[in-house]
Amino acid sequence: MNLRILFAGTELFPFVKAGGLGDVMAALPKALRALGVDVRLLLPAHPALKQAAAPLETVLTLGDLMGGGEARVLLGRCPAGLPLYLLDQPAFFHTDAPYAPGGDMPLRFGSLAWTAAHLGRHGDGQGWKPAIVHVHDWHTALAPAYLALGGEPRPRTVLTIHNLAYQGLFPPDLLAPLGLPAACFQPDGVEFYGKLGFLKAGLVYADRITTVSPTYAREILGPAGEGLEGLLRLRNGRLRGILNGVDGDIWNPATDPLLPRPFSLEDLPARLPAKLALQRELGLREAPDTPLFSVVSRFAPQKGLDLILENLPWFQAQGVQLAVLGQGDPDLEARFLAAARLHPERVAVRIGFDEGLSHRLYGGADALLVPSRREPCGLTQLYALRYGALPVVRATGGLADTVVDATPEATREGRATGFVFGEASPGALKEALDRALSLYRNRHDTWVDLQRRAMAQDFGWTQPARQYLELYEALLASVD
Ligand code: ADP
Repeated sequence: MNLRILFAGTELFPFVKAGGLGDVMAALPKALRALGVDVRLLLPAHPALKQAAAPLETVLTLGDLMGGGEARVLLGRCPAGLPLYLLDQPAFFHTDAPYAPGGDMPLRFGSLAWTAAHLGRHGDGQGWKPAIVHVHDWHTALAPAYLALGGEPRPRTVLTIHNLAYQGLFPPDLLAPLGLPAACFQPDGVEFYGKLGFLKAGLVYADRITTVSPTYAREILGPAGEGLEGLLRLRNGRLRGILNGVDGDIWNPATDPLLPRPFSLEDLPARLPAKLALQRELGLREAPDTPLFSVVSRFAPQKGLDLILENLPWFQAQGVQLAVLGQGDPDLEARFLAAARLHPERVAVRIGFDEGLSHRLYGGADALLVPSRREPCGLTQLYALRYGALPVVRATGGLADTVVDATPEATREGRATGFVFGEASPGALKEALDRALSLYRNRHDTWVDLQRRAMAQDFGWTQPARQYLELYEALLASVD
């Protein structure tokens, strides 16, 4: 193993996870390691991670970092075998919530980013030093700034944008506590309209930028750029979209212990018990022929779930069951719960984070709705494809890159895998729902063909990992 990469981020499936970032932080390093890359991870020492990575050895003591008290770097291993550094600073990271609210957030993640930069520049004191520090989203995006501002020699840096909507914007008086020089507070540096921007800093100072799908990489140069499109256009030569993958060790309906009974492409009728069990679990009528559409999502404005709420009468009128799992925005939670109270025979809603139920929804529902306004990559539609729930998605970001709409032509040619709509409007979603339902009810053989096609696709991590490796190698070979 030659090439040494340090991955720094905030989530790691299954211990600390809020969304897709946790899945990627667990799966991509594993896939890179299979290609011979020496990847190590750095995360905060949340209690669940300390337990999972034990036995732990203290490799660095860093003193008081950012007012969070004595900081130590511990070294253990993830269950997948990869070495895992943990930033142990109990005042900052005493729960398992990756984004526990609190005024200390910028200093907490500043401390994590600073530690990533320190490990990158000086190594772990045991002889391991990375050639590249690869950071993920705003929480660790200050690391490229610390490294670039600290001068050469330094490791190269890569920033992956998993979601540009979250930028880490804070008051400028945090500059000094974060250990950043006053001179970098300007539009060419870390300033974003009078605020200190963590993600902005990463976009300015990282040697390479990636994001999680080719379409999103194009979209963020325009209106999806959240105010950063100008900077992203400037840095476009250093920006690349690499599609996320699916971890086949976890997401495989033939071996998934969270399903009531395994099934596979070769044995699709065995999927039916998963649907019936799901209907039972959710208190919906057990009916093999009643279409069951589902949602697994964070309740955030970008997910477009209001478009589904606007279409509730459609579910009622068409006799389609709707099963929703998610949490987040209190208003959306209340509206979905109200819908379930009003139509308990038609709509089932579970508020919360439930890994097991998410698997049973992908494995038991007929379709999965992802009407996102913005979706950098999206993993739920990939899991749904793999588990034979046909995705109904809006054509944005990674959704556009991974689902082939069942147009008459694509269906005839055997390429279709789901239903895609364009405009972010209730009417456009309804049109896609109509098409899905019509295929389900009137041409069920074709529906099953789509399921087979969806399940047969390879969205594994090997291909994306090769692209990251290629990017690392090109970066190390480049002179800039
Ligand atoms: P995002 O990262 O924007 O939340 P993704 O589609 O990339 O969206 O990833 C979402 C991940 O989180 C998937 O693994 C999905 O199964 C999971 N997930 C989302 N909400 C829940 C929930 N309420 N319970 C269990 N898993 C969830």
